[in-house]
Amino acid sequence: MMSLSVLSLPQRYKRLLQAMTLAVAVVYMTLLLYQSAYGYPNFQLQPQPLSSSSQLLDGNEPAAITTTQQLQQQQQQQQQQLQHSLPPTTQTASSFASSAASPITPSLIIRKDIHSFNFSDIEVSERPTATLLTELARRSRNGELLHDLSQRAVTATPQPPTTELDDIFISVKTTKNYHDTRLALIIKTWFQLARDQTWFFTDTDDHYYQEKTKGHLINTKCSQGHFRKALCCKMSAELDIFLESGKKWFCHFDDDNYVNVPRLVKLLDEYSPSVDWYLGKPSISSPLEIHLDNKNTTTNKKITFWFATGGAGFCLSRALTLKMLPIAGGGKFISIGDKIRFPDDVTMGFIIEHLLKVPLTVVDNFHSHLEPMEFIRSDTFQDQVSFSYAHMKNQWNVIKVDGFDLKTDPKRFYSLHCQLFPYFSFCPPR
Ligand code: UDP
Ligand code: MN
Repeated sequence: MMSLSVLSLPQRYKRLLQAMTLAVAVVYMTLLLYQSAYGYPNFQLQPQPLSSSSQLLDGNEPAAITTTQQLQQQQQQQQQQLQHSLPPTTQTASSFASSAASPITPSLIIRKDIHSFNFSDIEVSERPTATLLTELARRSRNGELLHDLSQRAVTATPQPPTTELDDIFISVKTTKNYHDTRLALIIKTWFQLARDQTWFFTDTDDHYYQEKTKGHLINTKCSQGHFRKALCCKMSAELDIFLESGKKWFCHFDDDNYVNVPRLVKLLDEYSPSVDWYLGKPSISSPLEIHLDNKNTTTNKKITFWFATGGAGFCLSRALTLKMLPIAGGGKFISIGDKIRFPDDVTMGFIIEHLLKVPLTVVDNFHSHLEPMEFIRSDTFQDQVSFSYAHMKNQWNVIKVDGFDLKTDPKRFYSLHCQLFPYFSFCPPR
């Protein structure tokens, strides 16, 4: 005290400052020691066993409570796995080719030519951002779902959402001449399991079948006939009406397809509609190679891509169709078909694989009549998504299935339907 009293004023301030610095340092060190020993409140650094009441709820081995940070990391990892891993029993078309012993490595060829090819009037410039999705959501009639999708694009979802039948838009391409034969057969069989979700795209008004389908017959006003323009016109209408529907999945089928409805739902449940998915089956063992006119040079541009055969059926996630919207929506699908001069399913592959760079994921459970139907084993019928039939050169390409005789059921769909769903009224009592 004595010494303090004889210190000059600046010296006293200096001492005071030193003392304050020391005090702050001591407080800081104490806090640090406390945190490392006890941690923050509500922030457990060590995993701890669940309480006994939670164990009762679960019944399994005790789980661990993790930190919020760990949880977020886990969620991000799950999200990454979700986006990058393929569900079991599926493969991309490129790996499909290599497993089919094809020497071609299609993905390489596709990626390489993308940068050099000038197709600027329809080439996609950039990926839609969250803002574009939000804008789309605002404009859409079913804004709620789109908004939900745009939210999912920016925030992590730990699990893919569960898919129900009502999340699917099933479109069937048909034509006036096939109403009494193909359409009638579908209506009697698998349509009964998805009456509210299935829509028929035809080229005429037909009051009889309009009534039979409870208003699910759409006259596209496209021309009748099995030529490229007419087929692309119908596919364009299918896509546009799906986009307006707000459903999560778009699945196209031909009118000579049998769709195993519960299996289709199960298939789509393995994928997330907010991730780009192009699910189907090619009918060729190597990617399609086409030559496009290049406006700027006299040379033709060669490109290769995979496409899912329309006659086997294919499905697109809503996320993917939203990316297609600016280039192929509102009837623009037809212009692209005109430009490349290929049928609707090829045009679809061109848009998705070539323009949008989303690879086809091969699902073997889709079947067109381009494959021999008799080789599908009857004990696997339940696991197939689609079937088909064809009558060529006086021979039927149909599945081998017990049931009605060949005269009553030449296409075998009634017999198949009774194997899968024996409780239907026209099925024989078991
Ligand atoms: N199709 C059509 N207009 C026609 C002929 C066929 O829209 O004039 C449709 C038909 O309803 C089916 C698809 O095109 O959904 C394929 O027709 P089809 O099975 O006769 O021929 P494929 O191409 O399978 O040999
Ligand atoms: Mn066909």
